[in-house]
Amino acid sequence: MAILMDGRATSAKVKEQVRQETEALKAAHGITPGLAVVIVGNDPASRVYVNNKKKACEAVGFQSFEYALPEDTTQAELLELVETLNADPKVNGILVQLPVPPQIDDKTIIHAISPDKDVDAFHPANVGKIMIGDYAFLPCTPAGVMELLDSVGVEVSGKRCVVIGRSNIVGKPMAMLLLHRSGTVTICHSRTQELAAITREADILVAAVGKANFVTADMVKEGAVVVDVGMDRLENGKLCGDVQFDEVSEKASYITPVPGGVGPMTVAMLMRNTLTAAKLQNHIQ
Ligand code: NAP
Repeated sequence: MAILMDGRATSAKVKEQVRQETEALKAAHGITPGLAVVIVGNDPASRVYVNNKKKACEAVGFQSFEYALPEDTTQAELLELVETLNADPKVNGILVQLPVPPQIDDKTIIHAISPDKDVDAFHPANVGKIMIGDYAFLPCTPAGVMELLDSVGVEVSGKRCVVIGRSNIVGKPMAMLLLHRSGTVTICHSRTQELAAITREADILVAAVGKANFVTADMVKEGAVVVDVGMDRLENGKLCGDVQFDEVSEKASYITPVPGGVGPMTVAMLMRNTLTAAKLQNHIQ
């Protein structure tokens, strides 16, 4: 039976560290990090994510600024808000919750966020820095996965790593972070042939597919480390991951649950990035 990589416990540790550093920053420099979260429309899942981020801000002692805009917000209106936040010294991090409604081009919005306030690390300037391994922020979900691997002492160097999924927010940066740690990395996607033969080679398997229970036990090597990034819904509305947890956990050495795995880590890493942004903007080491 696999050992759980516990995202709730590990994220609590990260947030506690951020809280202490924030207290020290306030005491020494009178600076309170601020995170602006913008949500457009009424997507219920996005609403939950935004609330979680707001709660986390309160827990670590940040100021949080929430902007809930109506579904019919125009791109020009959203860009104007982003520009205002870029110029506001109280705001150190800006996050526009995706997806945005179809009248708004998400790339245009991401490009408009000042790179030094881009705590999601989606701006091309930050993506480029990640490619060359010289970065201030890492995208929150892949960074959270690395933190979870570290929390149980999983060594990446020299391991066969397989990432299923090649999105810009999860799959691609995930592969890059594993590569930075000297893993031998394969990225799989919907056109990959013989997927199970590839995933069975993995010492570390990361599933970021977005399909409930997609990874079955026959796709996993005995003793593999399995990370489930998926946040999927079963027909009955229940939250589950991309990995068939019950059968895969019989074979894996370590595994993340859903919920309680990668999800809470994403929020904790956002807090860490916002603290980093506040320090950088104020020229504090
Ligand atoms: P996405 O943009 O939809 O990407 C899904 C990826 O899976 C694509 O690269 C796609 O390949 C690949 N794929 C789809 N069907 C496949 C198949 N049959 N075989 C192999 N690959 C296949 O999704 P995402 O934004 O990366 O998110 C992935 C999952 O992670 C979702 O469940 C999402 O909710 C979750 N998520 C969780 C967190 C968290 O905090 N825990 C954060 C972000 C996302 P193509 O590129 O060829 O289409």
